[in-house]
Amino acid sequence: MRSPDVIILGAGAAGLYCAIHAARSGLSVTMLDHADKPARKVRVSGGGRCNFTNLDAGPEDYASNNPHFAKSALARHTPWDAVAFFAECGLTYEEKAAGQLFCEQKAGRLAGELVDRARKAGVELLTGQPIESVEGHGPFTVRFGGRNFTAPKLVVALGGPSWPQVGATDRRLQACPAVRAGRG
Ligand SMILES: Cc1cc2nc3c(=O)[nH]c(=O)nc-3n(C[C@H](O)[C@H](O)[C@H](O)COP(=O)(O)OP(=O)(O)OC[C@H]3O[C@@H](n4cnc5c(N)ncnc54)[C@H](O)[C@@H]3O)c2cc1C
Repeated sequence: MRSPDVIILGAGAAGLYCAIHAARSGLSVTMLDHADKPARKVRVSGGGRCNFTNLDAGPEDYASNNPHFAKSALARHTPWDAVAFFAECGLTYEEKAAGQLFCEQKAGRLAGELVDRARKAGVELLTGQPIESVEGHGPFTVRFGGRNFTAPKLVVALGGPSWPQVGATDRRLQACPAVRAGRG
């Protein structure tokens, strides 16, 4: 079995969006999530109409040990790139409060587009099993559902702890020694 270039923990909004763009850039991607269904929180977001980007979002809105990361990331991928991506998915939007763009279709449709496009880009999406352990600082080995997955890069996209009904946990920091050590 071939090892992927990247393992992404968490198939929510962030993980799926990252997976699509990584796969489209030529990387092989494996995503792992304990929920049976990916992107469950996206389906309830924005009162069912997903506020999918904010035109005024800037580096100062992101908490990070490295504030320069958000500056370079947002310089390379702006909210307008997100607008273009969702337009490619056939979604339209309305601007509510200044800069807040809400999908005019149901959030479930947007979630489905993320999952479909990840699969079409060749992402391996594995769900419904627990992440048992994460070892290493690159390469990383993740034990998931009794199998080991190893990759040189690891993305931790396990979301926040709110709404455990849709898959959220507060176990993301304990899951990964690299994150615990502040290197994630
Ligand atoms: C009611 C509600 C409405 C919201 N509306 C909006 C909105 O309109 N716009 C907006 O930008 N944000 C909204 N949010 C915030 C929203 O949760 C996030 O923007 C978005 O879901 C974050 O994406 P994420 O990928 O970081 O996390 P999530 O979407 O939560 O994805 C995390 C994934 O990790 C998986 N996971 C978690 N722990 C583990 C574990 N230990 N092992 C394996 N898998 C695990 C989960 O199953 C999930 O699939 C809303 C939140 C709520 C609760």
